[in-house]
Amino acid sequence: MTSAVDLTVWPPRYDATYRPDPASEHWFPELECMEPHARDALILVKLRRQLAWAWERSPFYRKKWDAAGVSPATLRSLPDLEKFPVVTKAELRASQAAAPPYGEYLCVEPGAVARIHGTSGTTGRPTVFGIDRGDWERIGEAHARILWGAGIRRGDRVLICSFFSLYLGSWGALEGVERLGATAFPFGAGASGQTLMAVQWARELRPTAFYGTPSYALHFAEIARREGLDPRELGFRTLFFSGEPGAGIPATKRLIEATFGGLCVDMGSMAEMTPWMTNGECRHRTGMHLWQDLVYTQVCDPETFRPVAFGAEGTPVYTHLERTSQPMIRLVSGDLARWTDAPCPCGRTYPRLPGGLYGRLDDMFIVRGENIYPSAIEDTLRAIEGFGGEFRVIVSRREAMDELLVRAEYAPAHAEPGARAKLSATMAERLRARLGVRPIVELVPAGTLERTEFKARRVIDDRDLYRRSVR
Ligand SMILES: [Zn+2]
Repeated sequence: MTSAVDLTVWPPRYDATYRPDPASEHWFPELECMEPHARDALILVKLRRQLAWAWERSPFYRKKWDAAGVSPATLRSLPDLEKFPVVTKAELRASQAAAPPYGEYLCVEPGAVARIHGTSGTTGRPTVFGIDRGDWERIGEAHARILWGAGIRRGDRVLICSFFSLYLGSWGALEGVERLGATAFPFGAGASGQTLMAVQWARELRPTAFYGTPSYALHFAEIARREGLDPRELGFRTLFFSGEPGAGIPATKRLIEATFGGLCVDMGSMAEMTPWMTNGECRHRTGMHLWQDLVYTQVCDPETFRPVAFGAEGTPVYTHLERTSQPMIRLVSGDLARWTDAPCPCGRTYPRLPGGLYGRLDDMFIVRGENIYPSAIEDTLRAIEGFGGEFRVIVSRREAMDELLVRAEYAPAHAEPGARAKLSATMAERLRARLGVRPIVELVPAGTLERTEFKARRVIDDRDLYRRSVR
Protein backbone atom coordinates (compact mmCIF):
# COMPACT_ATOMS: atom_id res chain seq x y z
CA MET A 1 0.00 0.00 0.00
CA THR A 2 1.17 3.50 -0.74
CA SER A 3 3.07 5.25 2.02
CA ALA A 4 1.45 8.58 1.10
CA VAL A 5 -1.59 7.80 3.25
CA ASP A 6 -1.68 6.18 6.67
CA LEU A 7 -4.90 4.18 6.87
CA THR A 8 -4.11 2.63 10.25
CA VAL A 9 -5.33 5.82 11.92
CA TRP A 10 -8.71 7.51 11.63
CA PRO A 11 -9.23 9.94 10.09
CA PRO A 12 -6.51 8.81 7.68
CA ARG A 13 -3.32 10.85 7.58
CA TYR A 14 -2.25 12.06 4.14
CA ASP A 15 1.20 13.14 3.09
CA ALA A 16 0.50 16.65 1.82
CA THR A 17 3.67 16.67 -0.28
CA TYR A 18 2.81 13.53 -2.25
CA ARG A 19 2.17 13.69 -5.99
CA PRO A 20 2.20 10.77 -8.39
CA ASP A 21 4.35 10.53 -11.48
CA PRO A 22 2.73 12.81 -14.11
CA ALA A 23 2.46 9.88 -16.51
CA SER A 24 0.49 7.83 -13.98
CA GLU A 25 -3.21 7.34 -14.75
CA HIS A 26 -3.99 7.12 -11.02
CA TRP A 27 -3.17 9.13 -7.93
CA PHE A 28 -3.35 6.11 -5.60
CA PRO A 29 -3.40 3.09 -7.95
CA GLU A 30 -3.56 0.61 -5.03
CA LEU A 31 -6.75 2.18 -3.72
CA GLU A 32 -8.41 3.07 -7.01
CA CYS A 33 -7.89 -0.29 -8.72
CA MET A 34 -8.46 -2.43 -5.63
CA GLU A 35 -10.33 -5.70 -5.90
CA PRO A 36 -13.88 -4.76 -4.80
CA HIS A 37 -14.07 -7.24 -1.90
CA ALA A 38 -10.78 -5.99 -0.50
CA ARG A 39 -12.12 -2.48 -0.83
CA ASP A 40 -15.27 -3.42 1.06
CA ALA A 41 -13.08 -4.61 3.94
CA LEU A 42 -11.28 -1.28 3.95
CA ILE A 43 -14.58 0.63 3.81
CA LEU A 44 -15.91 -1.39 6.75
CA VAL A 45 -12.91 -0.45 8.91
CA LYS A 46 -13.31 3.24 8.07
CA LEU A 47 -17.08 3.13 8.47
CA ARG A 48 -16.85 1.64 11.97
CA ARG A 49 -14.63 4.50 13.07
CA GLN A 50 -16.89 7.06 11.37
CA LEU A 51 -20.02 5.69 13.07
CA ALA A 52 -18.34 5.59 16.49
CA TRP A 53 -17.18 9.17 16.02
CA ALA A 54 -20.72 10.35 15.29
CA TRP A 55 -22.29 8.24 18.04
CA GLU A 56 -19.97 9.61 20.70
CA ARG A 57 -20.27 13.25 19.68
CA SER A 58 -23.61 13.92 18.04
CA PRO A 59 -26.95 14.00 19.88
CA PHE A 60 -28.59 14.02 16.44
CA TYR A 61 -27.25 10.61 15.46
CA ARG A 62 -27.50 9.16 18.97
CA LYS A 63 -31.22 9.99 19.24
CA LYS A 64 -31.93 8.85 15.72
CA TRP A 65 -30.10 5.55 16.07
CA ASP A 66 -31.48 4.90 19.56
CA ALA A 67 -34.97 5.26 18.17
CA ALA A 68 -34.13 2.81 15.39
CA GLY A 69 -32.53 0.35 17.82
CA VAL A 70 -29.10 0.53 16.24
CA SER A 71 -25.67 1.59 17.45
CA PRO A 72 -22.14 1.30 16.04
CA ALA A 73 -22.07 -2.29 17.40
CA THR A 74 -24.84 -3.15 14.92
CA LEU A 75 -22.37 -2.82 12.06
CA ARG A 76 -20.76 -6.25 11.80
CA SER A 77 -20.59 -6.29 8.02
CA LEU A 78 -21.04 -3.69 5.30
CA PRO A 79 -24.64 -4.74 4.47
CA ASP A 80 -25.55 -3.94 8.11
CA LEU A 81 -25.38 -0.27 7.13
CA GLU A 82 -28.88 -0.72 5.67
CA LYS A 83 -30.17 -1.09 9.24
CA PHE A 84 -29.28 2.52 9.93
CA PRO A 85 -32.04 5.03 9.19
CA VAL A 86 -31.51 7.48 6.37
CA VAL A 87 -31.06 11.20 6.94
CA THR A 88 -33.00 13.76 4.93
CA LYS A 89 -32.12 17.37 4.24
CA ALA A 90 -35.31 18.41 6.08
CA GLU A 91 -33.98 16.73 9.25
CA LEU A 92 -30.72 18.62 8.94
CA ARG A 93 -32.61 21.91 8.59
CA ALA A 94 -34.78 21.06 11.60
CA SER A 95 -31.71 20.20 13.67
CA GLN A 96 -30.10 23.52 12.76
CA ALA A 97 -33.29 25.40 13.62
CA ALA A 98 -33.37 23.69 17.03
CA ALA A 99 -29.63 23.98 17.71
CA PRO A 100 -28.29 26.88 15.66
CA PRO A 101 -26.12 27.44 13.81
CA TYR A 102 -24.60 24.03 13.03
CA GLY A 103 -27.21 21.61 14.33
CA GLU A 104 -26.75 18.66 16.68
CA TYR A 105 -24.63 16.83 14.14
CA LEU A 106 -21.56 19.02 14.53
CA CYS A 107 -19.05 16.57 16.00
CA VAL A 108 -16.30 19.04 16.89
CA GLU A 109 -16.20 22.07 19.19
CA PRO A 110 -17.72 25.10 17.41
CA GLY A 111 -14.37 26.84 17.90
CA ALA A 112 -12.72 24.15 15.75
CA VAL A 113 -14.77 25.14 12.70
CA ALA A 114 -12.31 26.58 10.21
CA ARG A 115 -14.70 27.48 7.40
CA ILE A 116 -18.39 28.35 7.23
CA HIS A 117 -20.27 27.74 4.01
CA GLY A 118 -23.91 27.22 3.25
CA THR A 119 -26.72 26.87 0.80
CA SER A 120 -28.50 29.96 -0.41
CA GLY A 121 -31.78 28.74 1.06
CA THR A 122 -33.84 29.51 -2.03
CA THR A 123 -36.02 26.51 -1.24
CA GLY A 124 -36.35 26.90 2.51
CA ARG A 125 -34.12 27.57 5.53
CA PRO A 126 -30.46 27.96 4.53
CA THR A 127 -28.19 25.13 5.63
CA VAL A 128 -24.95 25.99 7.44
CA PHE A 129 -21.82 23.97 6.82
CA GLY A 130 -19.14 24.10 9.50
CA ILE A 131 -15.93 22.44 8.35
CA ASP A 132 -12.87 21.90 10.51
CA ARG A 133 -9.28 22.23 9.36
CA GLY A 134 -8.57 18.51 9.10
CA ASP A 135 -11.71 17.94 7.02
CA TRP A 136 -10.82 20.80 4.71
CA GLU A 137 -7.36 19.35 4.13
CA ARG A 138 -8.82 15.91 3.39
CA ILE A 139 -11.31 17.54 0.99
CA GLY A 140 -8.31 18.97 -0.87
CA GLU A 141 -6.67 15.52 -0.91
CA ALA A 142 -9.80 13.85 -2.28
CA HIS A 143 -10.41 16.50 -4.92
CA ALA A 144 -6.80 16.51 -6.09
CA ARG A 145 -6.96 12.74 -6.50
CA ILE A 146 -10.21 12.88 -8.47
CA LEU A 147 -9.09 15.82 -10.64
CA TRP A 148 -5.98 13.78 -11.43
CA GLY A 149 -8.29 11.06 -12.71
CA ALA A 150 -9.96 13.65 -14.95
CA GLY A 151 -6.55 14.38 -16.47
CA ILE A 152 -5.62 17.61 -14.65
CA ARG A 153 -1.89 17.91 -14.05
CA ARG A 154 0.67 20.38 -12.75
CA GLY A 155 1.07 22.98 -15.42
CA ASP A 156 -2.66 23.16 -16.08
CA ARG A 157 -4.24 26.56 -15.50
CA VAL A 158 -7.75 26.13 -14.13
CA LEU A 159 -10.30 28.90 -14.66
CA ILE A 160 -12.93 28.65 -11.91
CA CYS A 161 -16.06 30.39 -13.15
CA SER A 162 -18.57 30.04 -10.35
CA PHE A 163 -19.60 32.03 -7.29
CA PHE A 164 -17.05 32.56 -4.54
CA SER A 165 -19.48 33.04 -1.71
CA LEU A 166 -21.31 30.53 0.46
CA TYR A 167 -21.33 28.09 -2.46
CA LEU A 168 -19.02 25.15 -1.75
CA GLY A 169 -18.54 24.13 -5.37
CA SER A 170 -16.03 26.86 -6.23
CA TRP A 171 -14.06 26.53 -3.00
CA GLY A 172 -13.90 22.77 -3.23
CA ALA A 173 -12.62 22.98 -6.80
CA LEU A 174 -10.05 25.59 -5.78
CA GLU A 175 -8.78 23.48 -2.89
CA GLY A 176 -8.34 20.43 -5.13
CA VAL A 177 -6.56 22.39 -7.85
CA GLU A 178 -4.14 23.88 -5.33
CA ARG A 179 -3.41 20.55 -3.65
CA LEU A 180 -2.74 18.97 -7.04
CA GLY A 181 -0.24 21.69 -7.81
CA ALA A 182 -1.93 23.12 -10.89
CA THR A 183 -2.38 26.87 -11.32
CA ALA A 184 -5.69 28.11 -9.93
CA PHE A 185 -7.44 31.04 -11.54
CA PRO A 186 -10.41 31.68 -9.22
CA PHE A 187 -12.33 34.08 -11.40
CA GLY A 188 -15.80 33.80 -9.89
CA ALA A 189 -19.13 34.57 -11.56
CA GLY A 190 -22.33 36.45 -11.00
CA ALA A 191 -21.32 40.11 -11.10
CA SER A 192 -22.61 42.28 -13.92
CA GLY A 193 -20.35 42.07 -16.97
CA GLN A 194 -18.22 39.37 -15.37
CA THR A 195 -18.69 36.79 -18.13
CA LEU A 196 -17.34 39.19 -20.73
CA MET A 197 -14.39 39.87 -18.44
CA ALA A 198 -13.83 36.13 -18.00
CA VAL A 199 -13.71 35.69 -21.78
CA GLN A 200 -11.23 38.54 -22.11
CA TRP A 201 -9.02 37.18 -19.34
CA ALA A 202 -9.19 33.70 -20.83
CA ARG A 203 -8.03 35.10 -24.16
CA GLU A 204 -4.97 36.59 -22.45
CA LEU A 205 -4.17 33.96 -19.84
CA ARG A 206 -4.96 30.85 -21.91
CA PRO A 207 -6.28 28.63 -19.13
CA THR A 208 -6.26 24.92 -20.03
CA ALA A 209 -9.16 23.86 -17.81
CA PHE A 210 -12.56 25.25 -16.87
CA TYR A 211 -14.83 24.70 -13.88
CA GLY A 212 -18.43 25.92 -13.56
CA THR A 213 -21.92 24.72 -14.36
CA PRO A 214 -22.70 23.37 -17.85
CA SER A 215 -25.26 26.13 -18.48
CA TYR A 216 -22.67 28.70 -17.58
CA ALA A 217 -20.06 27.20 -19.91
CA LEU A 218 -22.52 27.47 -22.81
CA HIS A 219 -23.33 31.05 -21.84
CA PHE A 220 -19.58 31.76 -21.70
CA ALA A 221 -19.23 30.33 -25.24
CA GLU A 222 -22.02 32.59 -26.53
CA ILE A 223 -20.30 35.66 -25.07
CA ALA A 224 -17.00 34.55 -26.61
CA ARG A 225 -18.62 34.22 -30.04
CA ARG A 226 -20.22 37.64 -29.66
CA GLU A 227 -16.66 38.91 -29.19
CA GLY A 228 -15.73 37.29 -32.48
CA LEU A 229 -13.89 34.46 -30.76
CA ASP A 230 -14.35 30.77 -31.47
CA PRO A 231 -14.40 29.12 -27.99
CA ARG A 232 -12.16 26.36 -29.38
CA GLU A 233 -9.38 28.92 -29.81
CA LEU A 234 -9.26 29.42 -26.04
CA GLY A 235 -7.58 26.03 -25.72
CA PHE A 236 -9.46 24.39 -22.84
CA ARG A 237 -8.33 20.75 -22.65
CA THR A 238 -10.58 19.75 -19.78
CA LEU A 239 -13.87 21.23 -18.61
CA PHE A 240 -15.24 19.82 -15.38
CA PHE A 241 -18.62 20.54 -13.92
CA SER A 242 -20.94 20.21 -10.99
CA GLY A 243 -24.19 21.76 -9.82
CA GLU A 244 -26.37 20.55 -12.70
CA PRO A 245 -26.89 17.25 -14.50
CA GLY A 246 -25.85 18.72 -17.89
CA ALA A 247 -22.33 17.31 -18.12
CA GLY A 248 -23.80 13.82 -17.84
CA ILE A 249 -26.54 14.39 -20.42
CA PRO A 250 -25.16 12.87 -23.65
CA ALA A 251 -26.19 15.62 -26.08
CA THR A 252 -25.05 18.40 -23.73
CA LYS A 253 -21.73 16.63 -23.22
CA ARG A 254 -21.24 16.36 -26.98
CA LEU A 255 -22.20 20.00 -27.43
CA ILE A 256 -19.74 21.21 -24.78
CA GLU A 257 -16.96 19.08 -26.28
CA ALA A 258 -17.73 20.32 -29.81
CA THR A 259 -17.98 23.93 -28.61
CA PHE A 260 -14.70 24.03 -26.70
CA GLY A 261 -12.73 21.16 -28.23
CA GLY A 262 -11.91 19.75 -24.76
CA LEU A 263 -13.12 16.92 -22.55
CA CYS A 264 -16.39 17.48 -20.67
CA VAL A 265 -16.13 15.80 -17.26
CA ASP A 266 -19.16 15.34 -15.01
CA MET A 267 -18.78 15.61 -11.23
CA GLY A 268 -20.73 16.34 -8.10
CA SER A 269 -22.76 14.77 -5.32
CA MET A 270 -24.16 17.26 -2.79
CA ALA A 271 -22.72 20.19 -0.84
CA GLU A 272 -23.42 18.32 2.41
CA MET A 273 -21.28 15.47 1.12
CA THR A 274 -18.21 17.55 0.33
CA PRO A 275 -15.70 16.26 -0.90
CA TRP A 276 -18.45 16.52 -3.53
CA MET A 277 -16.19 15.25 -6.32
CA THR A 278 -16.50 11.68 -5.03
CA ASN A 279 -19.10 11.35 -7.75
CA GLY A 280 -16.58 12.05 -10.48
CA GLU A 281 -15.83 10.94 -13.99
CA CYS A 282 -12.36 9.96 -15.08
CA ARG A 283 -10.94 11.27 -18.36
CA HIS A 284 -12.63 8.39 -20.23
CA ARG A 285 -16.03 9.90 -19.41
CA THR A 286 -17.98 6.68 -18.96
CA GLY A 287 -20.19 8.15 -16.24
CA MET A 288 -19.26 9.32 -12.76
CA HIS A 289 -17.23 6.85 -10.72
CA LEU A 290 -18.28 6.46 -7.10
CA TRP A 291 -15.01 6.86 -5.20
CA GLN A 292 -16.21 4.45 -2.55
CA ASP A 293 -13.29 4.54 -0.15
CA LEU A 294 -13.81 8.31 0.34
CA VAL A 295 -17.61 8.53 0.45
CA TYR A 296 -19.52 5.27 0.48
CA THR A 297 -22.44 5.54 -1.93
CA GLN A 298 -25.30 3.14 -2.43
CA VAL A 299 -27.94 3.56 -5.13
CA CYS A 300 -31.11 2.67 -3.24
CA ASP A 301 -34.77 2.03 -3.78
CA PRO A 302 -36.41 5.40 -2.98
CA GLU A 303 -39.04 3.76 -0.74
CA THR A 304 -37.08 1.16 1.22
CA PHE A 305 -33.60 2.69 0.96
CA ARG A 306 -32.12 -0.71 0.36
CA PRO A 307 -29.48 -0.87 -2.37
CA VAL A 308 -30.75 -1.87 -5.80
CA ALA A 309 -28.84 -4.33 -7.99
CA PHE A 310 -26.23 -3.06 -10.45
CA GLY A 311 -28.02 -2.10 -13.63
CA ALA A 312 -31.07 -0.79 -11.78
CA GLU A 313 -32.26 2.74 -11.06
CA GLY A 314 -32.55 4.34 -7.65
CA THR A 315 -31.54 7.30 -5.55
CA PRO A 316 -27.97 7.67 -4.27
CA VAL A 317 -27.58 7.50 -0.48
CA TYR A 318 -24.23 8.82 0.73
CA THR A 319 -22.07 8.09 3.78
CA HIS A 320 -18.90 9.93 4.72
CA LEU A 321 -15.90 7.83 5.66
CA GLU A 322 -13.45 10.46 6.82
CA ARG A 323 -15.43 13.50 8.01
CA THR A 324 -14.98 14.77 11.55
CA SER A 325 -16.99 18.02 11.60
CA GLN A 326 -20.46 17.33 10.15
CA PRO A 327 -20.43 13.71 9.02
CA MET A 328 -23.35 12.55 6.91
CA ILE A 329 -24.36 8.97 7.46
CA ARG A 330 -26.88 7.71 4.91
CA LEU A 331 -27.91 11.08 3.54
CA VAL A 332 -30.63 10.72 0.91
CA SER A 333 -29.90 12.72 -2.21
CA GLY A 334 -33.28 12.61 -3.93
CA ASP A 335 -31.39 12.39 -7.22
CA LEU A 336 -31.97 9.62 -9.70
CA ALA A 337 -29.30 7.44 -11.21
CA ARG A 338 -28.59 3.98 -12.55
CA TRP A 339 -25.41 2.30 -11.40
CA THR A 340 -23.16 -0.33 -12.90
CA ASP A 341 -20.04 -2.27 -11.93
CA ALA A 342 -18.99 -2.79 -15.56
CA PRO A 343 -15.27 -2.07 -16.03
CA CYS A 344 -13.95 1.29 -17.20
CA PRO A 345 -10.89 1.64 -19.49
CA CYS A 346 -9.13 3.61 -16.72
CA GLY A 347 -8.80 0.45 -14.64
CA ARG A 348 -10.56 1.86 -11.58
CA THR A 349 -12.82 -0.69 -9.96
CA TYR A 350 -15.30 1.82 -8.59
CA PRO A 351 -18.91 1.46 -9.66
CA ARG A 352 -20.18 4.11 -12.07
CA LEU A 353 -23.31 6.12 -12.85
CA PRO A 354 -23.33 5.81 -16.67
CA GLY A 355 -26.07 8.43 -17.15
CA GLY A 356 -24.91 10.66 -14.30
CA LEU A 357 -27.55 12.09 -11.99
CA TYR A 358 -30.15 12.45 -14.70
CA GLY A 359 -33.07 13.59 -12.63
CA ARG A 360 -34.43 14.40 -9.24
CA LEU A 361 -37.37 12.73 -7.60
CA ASP A 362 -38.84 16.21 -7.02
CA ASP A 363 -37.93 17.56 -10.51
CA MET A 364 -39.91 14.93 -12.23
CA PHE A 365 -43.31 16.02 -13.40
CA ILE A 366 -46.17 13.97 -14.70
CA VAL A 367 -47.98 14.89 -17.87
CA ARG A 368 -50.88 12.69 -18.92
CA GLY A 369 -49.50 9.86 -16.81
CA GLU A 370 -45.97 9.96 -18.21
CA ASN A 371 -43.01 10.65 -15.90
CA ILE A 372 -40.98 13.42 -17.48
CA TYR A 373 -37.52 14.67 -16.53
CA PRO A 374 -36.23 18.04 -17.76
CA SER A 375 -32.91 16.35 -18.59
CA ALA A 376 -34.64 14.13 -21.19
CA ILE A 377 -36.02 17.23 -22.92
CA GLU A 378 -32.59 18.85 -22.86
CA ASP A 379 -30.91 15.76 -24.27
CA THR A 380 -33.46 15.56 -27.10
CA LEU A 381 -33.31 19.22 -28.10
CA ARG A 382 -29.53 19.52 -28.01
CA ALA A 383 -29.23 16.63 -30.44
CA ILE A 384 -31.32 18.48 -33.05
CA GLU A 385 -29.56 20.55 -35.71
CA GLY A 386 -31.04 24.04 -35.64
CA PHE A 387 -31.75 24.20 -31.90
CA GLY A 388 -30.71 27.67 -30.72
CA GLY A 389 -29.33 26.82 -27.30
CA GLU A 390 -31.97 27.51 -24.64
CA PHE A 391 -35.48 26.32 -23.83
CA ARG A 392 -38.31 26.48 -21.32
CA VAL A 393 -40.98 23.97 -20.46
CA ILE A 394 -44.43 25.16 -19.49
CA VAL A 395 -46.92 22.66 -18.17
CA SER A 396 -50.51 23.83 -17.99
CA ARG A 397 -54.01 22.48 -18.03
CA ARG A 398 -56.58 23.24 -20.69
CA GLU A 399 -60.06 21.86 -20.34
CA ALA A 400 -58.87 19.33 -17.76
CA MET A 401 -56.10 18.06 -20.05
CA ASP A 402 -52.41 18.50 -19.26
CA GLU A 403 -50.59 20.39 -21.92
CA LEU A 404 -46.84 20.40 -22.44
CA LEU A 405 -45.45 23.47 -24.13
CA VAL A 406 -41.79 23.54 -25.07
CA ARG A 407 -40.54 26.97 -25.98
CA ALA A 408 -37.26 26.45 -27.82
CA GLU A 409 -34.82 28.74 -29.56
CA TYR A 410 -33.91 28.27 -33.21
CA ALA A 411 -30.44 28.94 -34.60
CA PRO A 412 -30.13 31.96 -36.95
CA ALA A 413 -29.54 29.63 -39.94
CA HIS A 414 -33.07 28.24 -39.44
CA ALA A 415 -34.88 31.59 -39.42
CA GLU A 416 -36.59 31.15 -42.79
CA PRO A 417 -40.30 30.19 -42.22
CA GLY A 418 -40.05 26.89 -44.10
CA ALA A 419 -36.96 25.83 -42.15
CA ARG A 420 -38.63 26.87 -38.92
CA ALA A 421 -41.74 24.82 -39.60
CA LYS A 422 -39.60 21.80 -40.36
CA LEU A 423 -37.52 22.32 -37.22
CA SER A 424 -40.60 22.66 -35.05
CA ALA A 425 -42.05 19.42 -36.49
CA THR A 426 -38.77 17.57 -35.89
CA MET A 427 -38.63 18.76 -32.30
CA ALA A 428 -42.24 17.79 -31.60
CA GLU A 429 -41.74 14.35 -33.11
CA ARG A 430 -38.47 13.53 -31.34
CA LEU A 431 -39.82 14.79 -28.02
CA ARG A 432 -42.93 12.65 -28.47
CA ALA A 433 -40.79 9.60 -29.16
CA ARG A 434 -38.67 10.23 -26.08
CA LEU A 435 -41.32 11.40 -23.59
CA GLY A 436 -44.41 9.56 -24.72
CA VAL A 437 -46.33 12.84 -24.84
CA ARG A 438 -46.61 15.11 -27.85
CA PRO A 439 -45.64 18.65 -26.85
CA ILE A 440 -46.61 21.91 -28.47
CA VAL A 441 -43.37 23.43 -29.73
CA GLU A 442 -43.09 27.17 -29.90
CA LEU A 443 -39.97 28.57 -31.57
CA VAL A 444 -38.30 31.82 -30.60
CA PRO A 445 -35.10 33.39 -31.99
CA ALA A 446 -31.77 32.39 -30.43
CA GLY A 447 -30.85 34.64 -27.53
CA THR A 448 -34.47 35.37 -26.53
CA LEU A 449 -34.55 33.27 -23.35
CA GLU A 450 -32.62 34.36 -20.31
CA ARG A 451 -29.27 32.64 -19.75
CA THR A 452 -28.32 31.45 -16.34
CA GLU A 453 -25.12 32.21 -14.52
CA PHE A 454 -25.74 29.33 -12.15
CA LYS A 455 -28.21 26.50 -12.06
CA ALA A 456 -30.80 26.59 -14.78
CA ARG A 457 -34.50 26.43 -13.85
CA ARG A 458 -36.32 25.60 -17.02
CA VAL A 459 -39.68 24.18 -15.99
CA ILE A 460 -42.76 26.21 -15.14
CA ASP A 461 -45.73 24.22 -13.92
CA ASP A 462 -48.88 26.33 -14.23
CA ARG A 463 -51.29 23.62 -13.21
CA ASP A 464 -51.41 24.64 -9.54
CA LEU A 465 -52.33 28.13 -10.66
CA TYR A 466 -55.08 26.68 -12.80
CA ARG A 467 -56.45 24.63 -9.91
CA ARG A 468 -56.54 27.71 -7.71
CA SER A 469 -58.22 29.85 -10.35
CA VAL A 470 -61.04 27.39 -11.06
CA ARG A 471 -61.84 26.76 -7.43
ZN1 LIG B 1 -12.80 5.41 -15.39
